[in-house]
Amino acid sequence: MKEKDCIFCKIANGEIPSKTLYEDEMFRVILDLNPATRGHALILPKAHAADLYGLPEETASKILVLAKELAVSMRDRLHCDGLNLVQNNGEAAGQTVPHFHLHMIPRYVGDGQTLGWAPGEATQEDLEEVRAVMTRQDAL
Ligand code: 5GP
Ligand code: ZN
Repeated sequence: MKEKDCIFCKIANGEIPSKTLYEDEMFRVILDLNPATRGHALILPKAHAADLYGLPEETASKILVLAKELAVSMRDRLHCDGLNLVQNNGEAAGQTVPHFHLHMIPRYVGDGQTLGWAPGEATQEDLEEVRAVMTRQDAL
């Protein structure tokens, strides 16, 4: 369940102290040490999974329910104007801690943060090629 030397395992299981907003059997929600905005929080499963690919289905199914509850709480208590959920998988996607975590980033008008991506371009053929790969019956 726990991975040796994983810092988020240690935080999630209380071996390293953190600013905890919520805890239950499956999750701990902590404040990010380097917050993008006021209230930037991380939902950590207590059981180690490196990323979304390895996340058990039960954990996956419960995490968005928890995120929704926290979202309402952040809106009501922090009076944020919006909220981004961010979840990075793999170094190429910006993941720096290899223990699954879901970022909850409250947003405030004029907060100066820039999350997101530069919109690209795709032809209908490009889109069709991806659709075909992702829906091919023998692919999985
Ligand atoms: P990632 O880039 O992997 O999606 O996000 C890792 C996040 O964890 C970063 O936002 C970083 O600030 C945060 N972080 C890294 N180490 C610690 C820590 O020891 N405690 C807390 N509370 N946050 C951490
Ligand atoms: Zn871990």
